[in-house]
Amino acid sequence: MKRRTFGAAALCVLLLTTVVSGCAQQSAAGKAKDYVQERAELAESNAYKTTVELTEKEKRVDARLQALKAEYLESCKDNVPYDMPVMTDENIWNSKLYQFCKELPKGADLHVHGLALLPAAEFMDYVESRPDLYIVTEGDQKYTLVYHAQGETPAEGEMLLKDALSEGVLTREELNTNWTLLGAGEENIWVWFEKLFARHQCLGSYPELVQSYYEDAFRYYSQNNTEYLEVRVLLFGSHEDAVANAEAIRAAYYKVRDEDPAFRVSIVGCGLKSVALDPALTDTLMDNAQYVHEQVKDTYDEKNTRDFLIGVDLVNEEDQSTPLEQYAPMLKKIKADHPDLHIILHAGESLFADSDNVIDAYLIGAERIGHGLNLYRFPDIEEAVEEDDICLEVCPISNQILRYVADLRLHPATEYLKRGVPFALCSDDPAYEEHTTLADDHFAAIVCWDLGLAEVKQLCMNAIDYSLTDEATKKEMKENWEQSWDTFLEAWL
Ligand SMILES: [Zn+2]
Repeated sequence: MKRRTFGAAALCVLLLTTVVSGCAQQSAAGKAKDYVQERAELAESNAYKTTVELTEKEKRVDARLQALKAEYLESCKDNVPYDMPVMTDENIWNSKLYQFCKELPKGADLHVHGLALLPAAEFMDYVESRPDLYIVTEGDQKYTLVYHAQGETPAEGEMLLKDALSEGVLTREELNTNWTLLGAGEENIWVWFEKLFARHQCLGSYPELVQSYYEDAFRYYSQNNTEYLEVRVLLFGSHEDAVANAEAIRAAYYKVRDEDPAFRVSIVGCGLKSVALDPALTDTLMDNAQYVHEQVKDTYDEKNTRDFLIGVDLVNEEDQSTPLEQYAPMLKKIKADHPDLHIILHAGESLFADSDNVIDAYLIGAERIGHGLNLYRFPDIEEAVEEDDICLEVCPISNQILRYVADLRLHPATEYLKRGVPFALCSDDPAYEEHTTLADDHFAAIVCWDLGLAEVKQLCMNAIDYSLTDEATKKEMKENWEQSWDTFLEAWL
């Protein structure tokens, strides 16, 4: 009996164990299912947000893009350079993925500075082609460009670049170092950066030179599949000087548009906010910007004339500049006096915890924010920027080479893309930072942020959608871009 009892008890235990274990398995399976489902939902809600629904053709090109990315990563042999050394790494330039980025219809470059448009190799070719542009080959001003109208005698040590190269006084490698950020070495990167602008400063001072330089630069952009630029310019001097230089830039744009009817340019007049400069200079520059806005129009298409100087901005190293807060009254007044003039502001290009210019950029009413690199540190402003549909001008290569982000996988743009904060990829200062303007930024974004074609397409469309030109022009640009996009897809199927 005892044995039977034992046997019955054992049977009960066995049955109970089986039931419990069965329930446990069922419950585990249920939980596992819930976990898998919940995980999938969270992965979905934390994925990149785009409005793009890929067509069948685009899905095939997306598969090609993924294959090109894998091929590039494979070529790096487990040592992918996530700092994206685009100026020196031939493995990047020689990859098919890089070719894909070069051919990509990038829409627009909404954040590029006027004297830094042409990358180093193209810039050297330009200087070499000029019979009136000399380079200082010795002393404190070595590598500085000097303009001499024909007939003027250059000073001692000044040589035409082609002579300096052929006589072995200078080499292209030396210039590549001393005309770009590659040469900064141990020096403070911004001190070196400002020095580069000073070396090329004369380009912006003579209308004849301004026109020829911008013409070369605009042609370069047109040939590299970027059809629209909003160029930040500094309009120094008197009203007349400012108008003459703006007209020279406009003449360069007209010339390139004769060759490429889809190509367009607008300019953005900038003030300087560095604490080291006389504040009166900012007043002059902003006054000139407003004057040029009124006086110089884009009349290339007589049926659709539009503003040529479309906006104002304030530039310089943010950590060494007067806070934006102090410019709020001036910028509000400009907006009140010229309601059709757009305010776009550099803000957030800083690693310091107390650098909060993005708050002012938002309060002042900036329609786009240059960089916005530290926007993620201000969650309320980030939310407001997203809700108000304010576009960031994200410049990954610039951020890396100016030492704000050492590894581009850590760039906050991935968070912006997930939250739905709109942004466009921009180049900033290609002359000092890039190998092929904007192709480098797309390459870095695709590799470091693991983008697919939907995100790439969204960023290209954003560059047009968030441009500040008038709606009719924007519509035309979008139609042209859609045609280019289709041709691009056919080529990469
Ligand atoms: Zn900038």
